[in-house]
Amino acid sequence: MKEKTTDSKRRKVFISNPRRIATAGARIVCPECGNDQEFFEVAQEVTITTKYIQNPDGSFTPTSDESTILGEINLYCGECYADLSQYYQRFSKMIF
Ligand SMILES: [Zn+2]
Repeated sequence: MKEKTTDSKRRKVFISNPRRIATAGARIVCPECGNDQEFFEVAQEVTITTKYIQNPDGSFTPTSDESTILGEINLYCGECYADLSQYYQRFSKMIF
């Protein structure tokens, strides 16, 4: 279950009461406003590669695309935009 990621090196410590979050069960709750429903994920330095097929009339149709994230990925509260990136690792494991 344990994964080593680069998250620890950019952990920010401005959250006033992290213990409250840690005991909130499986849900991530914004410590600033209490929001637990809407979040933004922001990826930096993303390369998007899209494959196109050229049609007989010269138009193009995309058939697949692939994104590669080279930079940091941050997590923000969807209500107050607080930086919740310290919870990103947990967030990313809970996306289904
Ligand atoms: Zn918030």
